Amino acid sequence: MDRPINLQTLLSDVVRMLPPQAKALKKLGIVTVADLLFHFPTRYGDTASKMNIGELEKGREAVIFGTISGLKTSKAYRKKIPLGEAWITDETGRIKVVWFHQAYLAKMIAEGALVRAEGKVSDRKGELYLSNPKIETVSKTPLAVGNNLFNDDGVPDHSLYPVYPESRGVTSNWIYHALQRVFKSGILDTLADPLPESILEKYNLPNLRTALIWIHTPRRVDDALAARKRFAFEEIFFIQLAKQRDRARFEHEAGFVIEPKKDDLDRFISAFPFPLTGAQRKSIDAILADLKRGHPMSRLLEGDVGSGKTAVAAAAVYAVTTTRPKGQDFGNLQTAYMVPTEILAKQHFESFIQYFRGSGIQIGLITGAGCRKFPSKVNPDGWTDISRTQLLKWVASGEIPILIGTHTLIQKSVTWKHLALAIIDEQHRFGVAQRAALAQKSGNPKEKSASKKTSLQSRKDDSLALAGIQPHLLSMTATPIPRTLALTLYGDLDLSLLDEMPKGRKQIITMIVSPSDRKATYEKIRAELAAGRQAYVICPRINEPDPDKEGAILAKSVTEEAKRLKQDIFPEYEIDILHSKMTATQKEEVMNEFKDGTIQILVATSVVEVGVNVPNATVIVIEGAERFGLAQLHQLRGRVIRSNHQAYCYVFTESQGEAASERLKALSKAANGFELAELDLAQRGAGALYSGKQWGVSDLAMEALRNLKMVEAARNEARAIIEDDPEIIRHPKLKAELDKQTERIHFE
Ligand code: ADP
Ligand code: MG
Repeated sequence: MDRPINLQTLLSDVVRMLPPQAKALKKLGIVTVADLLFHFPTRYGDTASKMNIGELEKGREAVIFGTISGLKTSKAYRKKIPLGEAWITDETGRIKVVWFHQAYLAKMIAEGALVRAEGKVSDRKGELYLSNPKIETVSKTPLAVGNNLFNDDGVPDHSLYPVYPESRGVTSNWIYHALQRVFKSGILDTLADPLPESILEKYNLPNLRTALIWIHTPRRVDDALAARKRFAFEEIFFIQLAKQRDRARFEHEAGFVIEPKKDDLDRFISAFPFPLTGAQRKSIDAILADLKRGHPMSRLLEGDVGSGKTAVAAAAVYAVTTTRPKGQDFGNLQTAYMVPTEILAKQHFESFIQYFRGSGIQIGLITGAGCRKFPSKVNPDGWTDISRTQLLKWVASGEIPILIGTHTLIQKSVTWKHLALAIIDEQHRFGVAQRAALAQKSGNPKEKSASKKTSLQSRKDDSLALAGIQPHLLSMTATPIPRTLALTLYGDLDLSLLDEMPKGRKQIITMIVSPSDRKATYEKIRAELAAGRQAYVICPRINEPDPDKEGAILAKSVTEEAKRLKQDIFPEYEIDILHSKMTATQKEEVMNEFKDGTIQILVATSVVEVGVNVPNATVIVIEGAERFGLAQLHQLRGRVIRSNHQAYCYVFTESQGEAASERLKALSKAANGFELAELDLAQRGAGALYSGKQWGVSDLAMEALRNLKMVEAARNEARAIIEDDPEIIRHPKLKAELDKQTERIHFE
């Protein structure tokens, strides 16, 4: 054990582990010493918060320490739910613990072990019990050792102990002891800090060595916080560094110069069947300013569902399409318009026909299911089906200047004559790789070897790279994310907000429904259905509860709820389900049936078809609303603000909690999704709202996004470095770390 170890040393060479532990660690992604060092606690318990079992009261969140006994598994009363049961005893009394759906927990703990349990005190027929507590084996109870749980390894007194992300098979206690071994090896003294000393000093951040000790074994809460801040800062700083470098690079690229005639564009816009909102106008102006600069635009257009992003995009497309390629007095510059689903692609194709009718401009549609072209020879107001080969030929020759499609657009076979604008709609719906492919396409050519080649890059390689011109990029999203997150994730993009809804929209009526009002609410919904309207019912889960999630027993599932609604509540209506585990064809079939009214009630998870337009659906029921963020709830209800009928959103809560319903009340007050996103952030923190994974950011960094000052500081530091040294040549340590990180991102 005294061999020198380094970050790449296998953990199994340093710490003894049993096969199930090795397996559990692997599942957590922990194989090497580095993996363990950078596996951070999600939070810290405080032995000082320990309660005496004899003094527990119903309804309280309790933290107890004691000896566990009477472990057994069984099936619960009515529903045959698998149960784990046990007793925990301390010197003041004993209490029963019950795990619903998590019977395995009872098998993981040894009879007679000392444990720490944390959970809610409930009662059944007057007998108190702890339901679904988090449980940890501990080496000593705090009472036995005073205020200091971990002093057996020579670690100084402290009452804080780290709690790591849950997993079956490795306890926080095990991780703690493994870390002690790793620390003792002296490895911390060999680590190079990737952050410049000047930055650490300026923001008073602990260096890497100190931060690692503090994050795993803090003596004081402040130390833990300082360590977490440092790692969050580091992560955000490197994201910013990469984004700012990209930005600086395409600031130097040549872009198509696009300057439409003002009168023409005004005429095009005034033919819209509505006046633009102020926010739309401002966004169009910003885009036009970008387009004429001679450098590629990289702009994100963020706006609630229904805020009219398509019209803004159409104006940009018009400007591009009416511009001649350089040195030519014929033909048009081209636009690629990518959307996440076939249904949306068709919808956009049809909207664009409305916008461009009579302009003589041709529009193509390409999806997995087939291709279309507007106008048709026989009907100048309509479209016609054409073969893929034919369509691709016309796109390659530049004859079709606007091509709308799904991700089929980024396939190799699609080549362009003069691609000048790439639009990606609902950009958050595309995978990280697809987004990267797109960013690359309009981004910098130097980095393309780092990732898999796509047709977009090869296109750039031939025609466009020869011309040396990158297409402009317009990204659009309806996900209302807070400013700090936008600054971090989209640091390379300019931001336009559509924070104003078109005039005359009926305000949706949102009601927070407590369990006792459920029945009456179903009757109101029945009246809507009887009037010919349709309804969505959103459930937190697809199937039966996930045994790994705390409190999962209560969450409604799509499959069960659909059955229940059909049997007990709405037998007279057609009900079907939609969720992410269904195949694309199944989803499309159900969506089409909902669209044409064959199905009246669609029971779905929150992840489905955010952008889909079914104007006749005017009711949305959201089950288990406390599980969703406010911004997410807002987005969900946006699906039924699609027509002139009055829309209703019924928010069903499971808990009677005051705090939950106070929070939900903000829904009926807030003006837009951004306001709610900020509220969410302030109340719950980004970590609870957005999965860091989705954005390629750690949960720790997500947590730090509450801190606008810190995010701005990271951004400013990164900017200052890039401004001074765009390719980071004079900061070799930073460059090495950045390259390492970029590589990781590319291979994920
Ligand atoms: P988003 O993509 O932002 O969710 P859409 O572009 O699909 O929204 O627009 C939603 C609806 O609002 C469309 O039917 C569109 O024609 C309409 N619309 C867009 N802008 C306006 C406006 N300024 N006034 C009235 N209606 C508008
Ligand atoms: Mg849209």
